[in-house]
Amino acid sequence: MQLTLSDKSLPYQIFPGHGLVAYFSMEIAINPAMPTYSGGLGMLAGDTLRSAADLGVPLVAFTLAHRKGYFQQHLSADGEQTEDVQPWNPANFCKEEAARVTVSVEDRVVTVRAWRYDLVGRSGHVVPIYLLDTDLDVNSGWDRGLTDHLYGGDTNYRLQQEIVLGMGGARMANALGLTVSVYHMNEGHAALLTLALLESQLGGGPQGAATETDVAQVRNKCVFTTHTPVPAGHDRFSVEQSIRILGGDRTARLERLGCVSDGLLNMTLIALRFSRYANGVALQHGKVSRAMFPEAPIDSITNGVHASTWLSEPMQQLLDTHIPAWRYDNLCLRNAIDLPEQEMLQTHGRTKETLLGEVAARTGLVLNPKVLTLGFARRAATYKRASLLFTDPERLLAIAKQAGGLQVLYAGKAHPQDAPGKELIRSVIETAGKLSNDLLRVVYLENYAWDLGALLTAGVDVWVNTPRRPYEASGTSGMKAALNGVPSLSVLDGWWIEGCIEGLTGWAIEDGADDAGEALALYSKLESAVVPLYLDAPEKWAGLMRTTLAFNGSYFNTDRMVQQYVRKAYCPLKPKVAAQVEEPSLAN
Ligand SMILES: *Cc1c(COP(=O)(O)O)cnc(C)c1O
Repeated sequence: MQLTLSDKSLPYQIFPGHGLVAYFSMEIAINPAMPTYSGGLGMLAGDTLRSAADLGVPLVAFTLAHRKGYFQQHLSADGEQTEDVQPWNPANFCKEEAARVTVSVEDRVVTVRAWRYDLVGRSGHVVPIYLLDTDLDVNSGWDRGLTDHLYGGDTNYRLQQEIVLGMGGARMANALGLTVSVYHMNEGHAALLTLALLESQLGGGPQGAATETDVAQVRNKCVFTTHTPVPAGHDRFSVEQSIRILGGDRTARLERLGCVSDGLLNMTLIALRFSRYANGVALQHGKVSRAMFPEAPIDSITNGVHASTWLSEPMQQLLDTHIPAWRYDNLCLRNAIDLPEQEMLQTHGRTKETLLGEVAARTGLVLNPKVLTLGFARRAATYKRASLLFTDPERLLAIAKQAGGLQVLYAGKAHPQDAPGKELIRSVIETAGKLSNDLLRVVYLENYAWDLGALLTAGVDVWVNTPRRPYEASGTSGMKAALNGVPSLSVLDGWWIEGCIEGLTGWAIEDGADDAGEALALYSKLESAVVPLYLDAPEKWAGLMRTTLAFNGSYFNTDRMVQQYVRKAYCPLKPKVAAQVEEPSLAN
């Protein structure tokens, strides 16, 4: 395909004289073959970097190597989850940098190196990702394992990892000779980078008083994105732990700066205290975050997904034929409103067959491509209520009958230490076994990860989400579905408050007083809206797919999102003024 003129001039100078943006994230989904992510946060980070590379944003990223990978999930026939490590070798994907830096952990000096992975954008612009690694001979056995396990170990291990990520990463940027103008903390895990900046500002170690001017200097360089809508979800450590691992002087300094609350060192408070701009990840989440931290002006930038990563191959071909400019300008996806209905249906049919083929290969179960197929795949946390659909089995069976058959595809991992999450998986699999008959087929697929996520979101007919409000900060899997023209049926939480246009992009599950009430709302929407439309003329379903793609694919993508980060966070018109927070108008 021909590049347009503006594409040839990439990377564009968005901020003349401006240095790099250094993006810090505990997890980044870089490449499907590298198990360096667990779920939504890492996917968002990866999609952010992919769009930054496409758009030519001068950005570099820091994360940990996670040499033992995030775990691989195994499910027994009766739904018991077991886990395997997924060791991988950074040397097979990355280039080792010569630079070394040190951090102090529990009075030990730990040496850190970095592996560089070059993420190349659609026009050749490179976003380097530095994977920090402590597996070096100079370190003790324990310290060599600090960058092994993503979200593994206890809170002591976590705090030590956060020192490597935040302080090690900031020092590594320096050692690599990078000129950084903006440090972006993607979630609180990287908040300690501000401490490294403050200390380098003060010209030394952890002692001494920092004045408000010193803090302001650091603030001027830092921006922060929070992803957590409930207080318990924020990363916190006891003061005792902090004194022991981070050090007494540093802990005292952070306490003086107001970063200890309820006797706990709070990473979100550190990040907020040291950032000139902070945001939540959807309009509603910004609002919830401001209520949680009334002292901080928290804006919102709604998440997105990277279009060419999540569009199925057949759908990409369809778009290349009719709207070729989508590859360089996601706004053009709006023109999907005019895609030929028959081609839309055929394209989705091919994607659905690919998905069902994979289901057959994995499970031996042959599903019917003509039958209405629902998808539900996400981390098996109890607030996501994976079993809401099974609240009234008789009613679900009646719906399956009404629809002439119903297929439900589940997937999702529970964190190894999350016993209730594991129990949820077990109960979904048990119920699936009991309920499945000729009309209703429920399948739980093992090891939800990048590839399966792409197949599921593109190949099902309806994407279902049932979080308990307000626990879903944003959610992004429904955005992947929307890009592929797949409507959502979801509780009005997170991104869906913005994304739901009833009957045009999917349907809302109305709020209920409790789980039982919301299960009723889910059934009634299936009976009254989803199934009748699916059984009606195929052109009507094709019409729904077009409006879904046009309205939501053109907006909930990371090209739009990254441009908002550039404008609002990285390169605001008035960088020295505190963020202007507008109260968004929301239906909810
Ligand atoms: C997109 C994605 C997620 C995040 O989706 P949610 O809607 O937040 O659940 C998690 N895991 C994988 C593998 C994904 O592809």
